[in-house]
Amino acid sequence: MTDFIKVENLVFDYIKSEDESTFRAIDDVSFTVEKGSFTAIIGQNGSGKSTLAKNINGLLVPTAGKIYVDGLDSADPENIWEVRQRVAMVFQNPDNQIVSSVVEDDVAFGPENLGVDPKEIRKRVDEALKSVEMYEFRRKAPHLLSGGQKQRIAIAGAVAMEPECIVFDEPTAMLDPNGRKEVIEAVEQLRKEKNVTVILITHYMEEVIDADQVFVMDEGHVVMHGTPKEIFSRVDELKKYRMDVPQVTMLADALIQKGVPLPKGILRREELVDALCQLS
Ligand code: ADP
Ligand code: MG
Repeated sequence: MTDFIKVENLVFDYIKSEDESTFRAIDDVSFTVEKGSFTAIIGQNGSGKSTLAKNINGLLVPTAGKIYVDGLDSADPENIWEVRQRVAMVFQNPDNQIVSSVVEDDVAFGPENLGVDPKEIRKRVDEALKSVEMYEFRRKAPHLLSGGQKQRIAIAGAVAMEPECIVFDEPTAMLDPNGRKEVIEAVEQLRKEKNVTVILITHYMEEVIDADQVFVMDEGHVVMHGTPKEIFSRVDELKKYRMDVPQVTMLADALIQKGVPLPKGILRREELVDALCQLS
């Protein structure tokens, strides 16, 4: 396994234009992301998640510290295209990401900007739309689609750039439960079929259960790091950072409090059922 992304002592300050005062949004964050892995980032509003995401794909440049993407220093202006080609982003609001009035043109926009050969673009667009199960909508107008469908078009747009990594910044935050499910399934498909490195920022704890590693952010710091099982075993600490735990975990924890001898960090319904059945 190789580290695809390496964040070393990252600091990021926003500078207010009015009085040039600075606000530290990221304060000494370090971590690595392996190629092909699934990393989840959670944390309350304003904890610095989006700022971190934008640093990873070079939209923002570190105030101090370093980010290496596939060995490329993100702060070196000569690397900017290489970094953006390797790390694509999908944002929260699908309406802000759609630029064309026809679905397939929208998906072609990214590779066109990368200067990809038109024949190759055609191939990529079709393939990307198929990978999110939106191929049959290729000639439709995006504004006629549901939120979940629009977000899948945005994902297809990222996929068509053939990045090694996609950073999803709360991609399901504006969707209804059906839309959320569609989008999370599309992300899962990309991981399994295309081996895309996934970094998912989310408020929904159910979406991080399959992650290889989870980071909890608070006030610009990484305050917790581990596997989902490790993280969700620490219910009290999560509450301190005002984080939820998956419903099943919450139920298991309530049973443990009542004296039922269950293991900590149960994440899935089947796991809880198995553990309960083994009690008697
Ligand atoms: P999150 O995505 O976790 O909600 P953000 O990374 O968006 O957090 O923001 C982190 C902190 O930086 C917040 O306190 C936010 O108010 C501040 N911030 C975000 N963007 C800007 C900006 N453009 N200028 C000044 N402060 C900002
Ligand atoms: Mg954010």
